Amino acid sequence: MDVLEKVKILGDAGKWDACASSASNRKVTTKDRIGDASACGICHSFTENGRCISLFKTLMTNSCKFDCKYCQNSTHCERKKTTQYKPEELAKVFMNLYVKNYVEGLFLSSGIVKNPDETTENMLEAINLIRNKYKFQGYVHFKVLPGTNRDLIKQANETADRLSINLEAPNHSRLSEISDIKDYKIDILRRQSYIKHLNPVAGQTTQLVVGGSDETDYEILKMIDWEYENMKLKRAYYSAFTPIQKTPLEFKDKTPLQREHKLYQVDFMMRQYDIKLREFRDIMANGDLPKGDPKVHLARERFDKPIDINEACYEDVIRIPGIGPQGAQKIMSLQHTGQKITKRIQLHSMGIVLKRAEPFIKINGHSQQTLTAY
Ligand code: SF4
Repeated sequence: MDVLEKVKILGDAGKWDACASSASNRKVTTKDRIGDASACGICHSFTENGRCISLFKTLMTNSCKFDCKYCQNSTHCERKKTTQYKPEELAKVFMNLYVKNYVEGLFLSSGIVKNPDETTENMLEAINLIRNKYKFQGYVHFKVLPGTNRDLIKQANETADRLSINLEAPNHSRLSEISDIKDYKIDILRRQSYIKHLNPVAGQTTQLVVGGSDETDYEILKMIDWEYENMKLKRAYYSAFTPIQKTPLEFKDKTPLQREHKLYQVDFMMRQYDIKLREFRDIMANGDLPKGDPKVHLARERFDKPIDINEACYEDVIRIPGIGPQGAQKIMSLQHTGQKITKRIQLHSMGIVLKRAEPFIKINGHSQQTLTAY
């Protein structure tokens, strides 16, 4: 198999690992068009300061002896071609893409061939070549494989910026619906704990497959809330389950993308607004978030009438739809200096989305009465 074919197969096999939202959802559907970078494993991620960077996202191999029921790389999947990079091959492919300016960093994951340690050693060899032989000092995200030896994780931390290991499911019992091999506590949580103590430069992240088992939103958020608190998690990524042909779950329903989106919204509000999980539990029915925007539901639950924007406390202001942390801070600053908001335009110039906020606020003693949403 030539290297280009490997690039295509291993780039495609790595597409289920989320590292950040892609910059575009546009699909290149015909062969006479160009621009589909995802086909060869180029994805986009965002740095701390919000800059969008391109990453070469690939697997070392798409052959895996593990048995995750939704995975096209698992032993269960009657498949298609399997292949793997030799470390030098991967290092050269990456450096070629880098020097031509197609990518700025690497996201490396893998299936597990004989055992997690042997595969990790191959991955490390490739990263070491990239770092030491080819002198690349840029961003590397290294996916720790379940059950990997502590020493190898330590070595990975010495060469990579970010380490992550996928939770896949929110607890032991849900993982057992997906895999008979993986041990939630030992293979995953214990490795996360090792990573936490190593304190990677760009932190530790994780990923869950939403709807891979029959878990509820509450189970997912409860676990992630615990992870932010106990594993120094930088970010969680949610990947909506998509059935793949020839896997045991090929006939299971696809998870709607709206569910994934709502989990991202709640996750963001827990991290950035410091809204506690118990408030979201109050708007859930049978453990799942309701249809529509969780922040609007939260506001409906909290406010029984529109509140005066000039007198509201921060905890109320941050819960108004259309107002984020920056807008809330600006409103609080005006309150502290005794200045009043008397016109809608003032809120608009603070970056507040009036259409969303108006049903919940009073400006100059008046509220927006016409919206039926409130
Ligand atoms: S360990 Fe990863 S690659 Fe292997 S079957 Fe599970 S999800 Fe797929």
